[in-house]
Amino acid sequence: MGFIAQSICETLWPTRCALCDTPGKLLCPRCARSLEFIDYYRACPRCGSPWGSLQCDRCNPVTERELADVSPCVSCFRYEGGAALLVKTYKDKGEQRLADVLARFLADVVDPAWKEWAQAVSYIPATTKARRRRGFDHMALVAQSFSRMTGLPCTQTLEECKAADQRTLSRQERIANMQGRFQAIKALGLNRVLLLDDVITTGATLSSAQCALDRSRCSTRIATIARA
Ligand SMILES: [Zn+2]
Ligand SMILES: [Zn+2]
Repeated sequence: MGFIAQSICETLWPTRCALCDTPGKLLCPRCARSLEFIDYYRACPRCGSPWGSLQCDRCNPVTERELADVSPCVSCFRYEGGAALLVKTYKDKGEQRLADVLARFLADVVDPAWKEWAQAVSYIPATTKARRRRGFDHMALVAQSFSRMTGLPCTQTLEECKAADQRTLSRQERIANMQGRFQAIKALGLNRVLLLDDVITTGATLSSAQCALDRSRCSTRIATIARA
């Protein structure tokens, strides 16, 4: 959008805070400060669970919670209150400009060493159904914005498994494939990828993505906006 068109739009429909509706910014400083940040120093250094620095309930094999092993992983927020609302407003109310706001939080939480390590930034692709409903792939936009902020190239690395593809796979591959939702894009040519997602819940989606990339000899580090 040109500068003049942008100023006209801004006069007619001023930007408002996605959380409190105050005119000015997409996320006002007061709301930004009150988000449910995860304390980096109290979080599990392996999986990023909010209080896991001493003993992580998520990484502990004895716990009864059925959680997939996803590591290494960091997250910006607990999926509660303002942070949850922010993610929902972005995904389901179509406020695509929030992609930059969310990418900024991710860029801040990811260790600079991870940015050095990664050859590219990638994302969990939305399901075809969700993409049609929303009209955009929400994590692709965040990853593109993250890429502009960090200089890491943004690449799609995963696609949903297609049932038809199963016939061409060996039995072993078929079993592995059926466990997961994703397959790595053919001839990926990458070995180290930083993978972004919106919310980690059981970790099943991310674990499936990580396995798919593992099979293509690509290791992953993961950052999510929030964790439930
Ligand atoms: Zn606000
Ligand atoms: Zn952990």
